[in-house]
Amino acid sequence: MSTLESQRSLQEAAVAQFQRAADLIGVPDPLREILSKPKNEIIVNFPVKLDDGTTKVFTGYRIQHNNIRGAFKGGIRFHPSVDLDEVRALAAWMTFKSALVDVPFGGAKGGITMNPKVYSPEESERIVRRFTHALGSNIGPSHDIPAPDVGTNSQTMDWMMDTFANTSSPSTRQTLKGVVTGKSVSVGGSVGREEATGRGVLYSLRHWCGENDVSLEGLKISVQGFGNVGGHFSRLAAKEGCLIVAVADHAATLHNGNGIDVEALYQWVKENGSVADFEGADKVDTEDLFSADADIFVPAALENQITSARAEELSVRAVFEAANGPTTPAAELVLADRNIDVIPDILANSGGVVVSYFEWLQNKSGWAWSAEDVDSRLRKVLWAAHDQVVERKADLGCSRREAAYAVALSRLTEVYRRRGVFP
Ligand code: GLU
Repeated sequence: MSTLESQRSLQEAAVAQFQRAADLIGVPDPLREILSKPKNEIIVNFPVKLDDGTTKVFTGYRIQHNNIRGAFKGGIRFHPSVDLDEVRALAAWMTFKSALVDVPFGGAKGGITMNPKVYSPEESERIVRRFTHALGSNIGPSHDIPAPDVGTNSQTMDWMMDTFANTSSPSTRQTLKGVVTGKSVSVGGSVGREEATGRGVLYSLRHWCGENDVSLEGLKISVQGFGNVGGHFSRLAAKEGCLIVAVADHAATLHNGNGIDVEALYQWVKENGSVADFEGADKVDTEDLFSADADIFVPAALENQITSARAEELSVRAVFEAANGPTTPAAELVLADRNIDVIPDILANSGGVVVSYFEWLQNKSGWAWSAEDVDSRLRKVLWAAHDQVVERKADLGCSRREAAYAVALSRLTEVYRRRGVFP
């Protein structure tokens, strides 16, 4: 990565992204300033007893970016790279994502700087419970609603909900399930939430295929990341006839021009923890993922993965940002120059927060929806957002990312215009 690309603050990049769209649609300065900074920043340092009898102090974050349209909403990330700058950017992206798909939430993000893989299940449970306790009343079903993200899952959310409920007054406990989303179905999660982000990427791809008169059947796709998002997306896309020709995770990069048997790979990763040593594909170099012969590239891992050098290598027609912030600003210019369409993160990966909203509604009403209901409503919400972005892109003559921000900013601006600034 060039020095310029690696040194740039992620939060500054996030602010620059919305400012470009704000220029296009003329968002007033005070609102730009409000949206440039998170509303609240909560940092907690908390001790946890480890299995060997020692005690370790962890640092956890919850950044609440904006709540003018509804409760703060966004995931919790456990990863060694988590820091204040990253969580600030991720929180801001949630505000724009929720506004773009028009769910009544704001934006937040949290996390702990740690490698979750090195802790035992018992240690993980103590870390999650103590973090939840440290956050205390900074979260709540009508206030701030965490969800899974990189390094966390439904078990994490089940422990968070259980801790929050058990430390609240007994008479309110049954009303608190919606304090987090992405829970297991047996404890109040929604069917379809686990694969929702991956399914949303597939619905985005189907919309794009419709726009461009391209068939899904035989479409060649490279995927970076084979976790919750990349794994589910690959399985769903393969079922629709797409060929997943290259897959990479933290351990290895695989290639098979005839299409990888994704179900077999999914089982392999479940049993072995990574794609390494899977026999149904060739092991290739990390950079070969970007130069692989494919129609679509799906980054489904971390930020800043598509650098300008890698953008020069890609020969795809479109990039679907399943991860948050995977394209550096410099790479974005290269992709635009090379006529590679970018379906931005706040649109392509919004399936997760949409089904989180469905889960929250189900928790409020006590009524569980069917898988068909969840999927058809998800598709409707996503395609409506895609249609609005396409329309705005044509009106403004801008990129899809700018159009997506323009749609989101219009909604936010309207609420500020009506509500004003207190007092
Ligand atoms: N972590 C996911 C995201 O980045 C989901 C957030 C949510 O469901 O609140 O969109």
